[in-house]
Amino acid sequence: MKIGVIGAGQLGRMLALAGYPLALQFRFLDSSASSPGGQVAPIVTGAFDDPGSLERLAADVDLVTYEFENVPVAALQKVARTHAVWPPVEALRVSQDRLLEKQLFEKLRIPTPAFRAIDSLGDLEAGVKALGLPCVLKTRRLGYDGKGQRDLRKPADVEPAGRALGGVPLILEGFVDFEREVSIVGVRSTTGEVRCYPIVANTHREGILRVTLAPHRHPALQKAAETHLKRVMKHFGYAGVLTIEFFVRRGKLVANEMAPRVHNSGHWTIEGAATSQFENHLRAILGLPLGDTRPVGHCAMINFIGGMPPRDEVLALPGVHWHDYGKEPRPGRKVGHCTIVAGSAVERDRLVRKVLRKVDR
Ligand code: AMP
Repeated sequence: MKIGVIGAGQLGRMLALAGYPLALQFRFLDSSASSPGGQVAPIVTGAFDDPGSLERLAADVDLVTYEFENVPVAALQKVARTHAVWPPVEALRVSQDRLLEKQLFEKLRIPTPAFRAIDSLGDLEAGVKALGLPCVLKTRRLGYDGKGQRDLRKPADVEPAGRALGGVPLILEGFVDFEREVSIVGVRSTTGEVRCYPIVANTHREGILRVTLAPHRHPALQKAAETHLKRVMKHFGYAGVLTIEFFVRRGKLVANEMAPRVHNSGHWTIEGAATSQFENHLRAILGLPLGDTRPVGHCAMINFIGGMPPRDEVLALPGVHWHDYGKEPRPGRKVGHCTIVAGSAVERDRLVRKVLRKVDR
């Protein structure tokens, strides 16, 4: 069985690494031959928006999945006529556009921030009046890791932000004064079997995920997150891993965004859960029985952003595992992460502080 993966970044690389024990083979599609996936499987090099490169990938594989969200939907729909493509192309289409995503959350009765579509400075002024300050202006498409978004705190912020981001469709969102950010990663098989990982607490810096603590034990939030996730899965007839990121405001979930793919906030599952999100994604899209999603301890994931900390010092800490994506260091770039599995939350938090001191040095 040969799996075609669109995108050969670290997510694709970790998917392939999880697939080898299942005797799966992999081919990637990426615009760069030196992407991290290339260390573990051949890359078909080509532009994602070139239907020809998608066809070249498809010609050589049995099933297509993606780790990268900015794939042109029309080209992928064409591939889906001849190949199984999971997760469903429709889930990708919706997740590519923050407006469609929030409209879906509303339709499925999943609480989400108040929002308005913004296509002009006039819309922006009306939107700010309706939602009130502070609020957040974002590009509808192609935003990630906090890119393409501005906080509007005072009236003088409105017009400059509109001019800076404008020219493309935007969305204005009410500012959520959250206590915490959490996410849920779940998986649904082509057979309809569903499993959810425990919700996790995420902290960001400069819009980029920095630390995930898992599990975030909170039975009421867990139940609500699973209900929301399953509703989205059912809506799409989903197969594969699906992630939803939430704000927690006054003890309740408010959905921020979804990702129809394996997710950075699920990396702790590699060593921290009975079955990793990567293995479960592959089991799901192949219709195999899903693996146990229970955590094996008190876990954490720390992203290495811009550069790797001293490896030997990090590896000397108990229960810590090293994941180096083999990428050139560059400011703001995720180049690796570590996972931590400890016997107690206190011990886990102590290890997190120790690693962060090495990262910040
Ligand atoms: P996003 O790209 O939508 O995940 O946004 C990146 C980060 O910006 C989030 O993780 C939040 O910390 C913050 N953020 C995004 N949207 C809002 C909002 N409506 N209210 C408050 N903070 C937000």
